[in-house]
Amino acid sequence: MEIICPKCKKPIESGNIFLSQDLAFCGSCNEWYVPSTLEARQLGANEPKDEYLPVEQIEFLSKQIEHKNKEISRLEAEKERLSLELNDAIKANKRLKGKARRRLIAIIIIISAITALVLYAIFG
Ligand SMILES: [Zn+2]
Repeated sequence: MEIICPKCKKPIESGNIFLSQDLAFCGSCNEWYVPSTLEARQLGANEPKDEYLPVEQIEFLSKQIEHKNKEISRLEAEKERLSLELNDAIKANKRLKGKARRRLIAIIIIISAITALVLYAIFG
């Protein structure tokens, strides 16, 4: 959905459109808009007088958005940390597998040597 800023007539960036909250922010004009009323206006419906949200509501919603953005940053940091942890775990797992394989080969060699010695002692 493209929303045109009524002030500067530029399309509002999709990242600045919050359809679930019926809010859009024009970065060029630094203004908040209510997309549903803008759309009504574009369709030629009667222009609502209360096109702008009350300041308190805008402040509340801006704070909510800010809060959500902080939460997103926190979750992204956590995701980053967990993926590093996962990488370390995968590396450690590979190391352990290598160690186990080397140990198995050593045991097989020792058993073969003992078998050879036993056979030599019996038939040699
Ligand atoms: Zn604008």
